[in-house]
Amino acid sequence: MRILAARYDVPQLGLASTNRGLEAQVSRRCGVKRNFGFVYQREGREHVPDEVTQCNVSDGPFGPEAHLMRPDLDQYLFEAAKNYGALAFEGVKVEDVAFDDDGVDVRLSQGDTLRAAYAIDATGRNSVLAKQFGLREEPSRFRTQSRTIFTHMRNVRPYDQVDDQTKQPTPWHEGTLHHIFDSGWMWVIRFAYVDRLSQTLLDNNDKLVAGSYVAFRDFDLWRAWSKMWFLAWNLGVMRLAGAYYQYVETGDAAVLDELHRGELPGTFAPEAPSAQAQFERCFAIMESIDRGEMEIEDAIPEMAFIPGHGEASPAPLDLHDVLRPWHDGSAETQTLIYNWGRTASPAGMRKWFDYDRAIIPLAAQRVHASLAAPLAAE
Ligand SMILES: Cc1cc2nc3c(=O)[nH]c(=O)nc-3n(C[C@H](O)[C@H](O)[C@H](O)COP(=O)(O)OP(=O)(O)OC[C@H]3O[C@@H](n4cnc5c(N)ncnc54)[C@H](O)[C@@H]3O)c2cc1C
Repeated sequence: MRILAARYDVPQLGLASTNRGLEAQVSRRCGVKRNFGFVYQREGREHVPDEVTQCNVSDGPFGPEAHLMRPDLDQYLFEAAKNYGALAFEGVKVEDVAFDDDGVDVRLSQGDTLRAAYAIDATGRNSVLAKQFGLREEPSRFRTQSRTIFTHMRNVRPYDQVDDQTKQPTPWHEGTLHHIFDSGWMWVIRFAYVDRLSQTLLDNNDKLVAGSYVAFRDFDLWRAWSKMWFLAWNLGVMRLAGAYYQYVETGDAAVLDELHRGELPGTFAPEAPSAQAQFERCFAIMESIDRGEMEIEDAIPEMAFIPGHGEASPAPLDLHDVLRPWHDGSAETQTLIYNWGRTASPAGMRKWFDYDRAIIPLAAQRVHASLAAPLAAE
């Protein structure tokens, strides 16, 4: 890819060839690749520590290599190609291709035919051209006749923690790990971020809803638990709003990228671990009630105390008052929350309040301006 980037002056290809470039420009879901390792396994036996080989990938000036998250990389390259002028036809299949002396007709499934000077077949193992021109050797002369199955797994313990006797130069789980055995092998390739982000999103929202089903048993308990919704919503919105207003102020997209850099991705306040801790404590109370280990009247004061005293609970939300029915979202309260954010919120969250509130009506004006001037596509 670096050769192509240099040869055709397409910097996007160069960036996508490095781990750092991928992370900065393409996707944070790719994984690092520091080695290509093989661990020999025997059925029913513990692994023999000496039966390993590992090829280390030099970091070099381009940094370590990467395991590619194909959907993200494909999308990035696809958009880049369009920006360079490629015409894209999505959701269609190539039915067949007809060559003549001057070029080629490519017939698409929805009926259109495209005329081009030449064709590049990128249809993978089901190659349209190979099929059309009978290019596949039958039977194939190749001795390798293999099948592959693959899946994405969670909570896989790094192999380095399972077998710490092999003395490999770099960790197995930072590379492409092959467990080889008589007649086959199994890859374990580690990917990053997305799994944690999406699983935490699922877990937190599941807890919010599961806690509600417990709370529905008693109206006061629901009023107390509903403060969790109120808090989660406020925490989520204040960081998005902060990033948005700063972006409108500065036009610097780096501020939006900050949204992905929190310590606890997928939680309501990724920059404030204490917010997650208090949410977990409140959910544990709901679980205790569900198991019959705690009385509702004992739970409610605790539900008032934990978020009420939490450092990531904006004071203007007054979460002590756990039984009140109205959750105040007025502009005045939002201003108080902004002041709390700048002066009293957990240190990691303060950056979301680093904007001038005068930008808010300007941002609204900008949005409403598009009502007056219909969008170009319409
Ligand atoms: C489980 C598994 C693990 C792998 N691991 C690795 C690895 O670690 N390292 C490595 O280098 N390689 C690996 N590979 C191989 C690698 O994925 C392929 O070599 C690579 O994806 C081929 O790229 P491609 O663009 O040629 O084809 P593909 O990625 O298959 O793309 C072909 C595209 O053409 C589209 N298409 C097909 N027919 C038509 C049609 N008639 N009209 C229009 N579009 C059509 C398809 O929808 C598809 O989007 C692995 C493959 C598998 C299955």
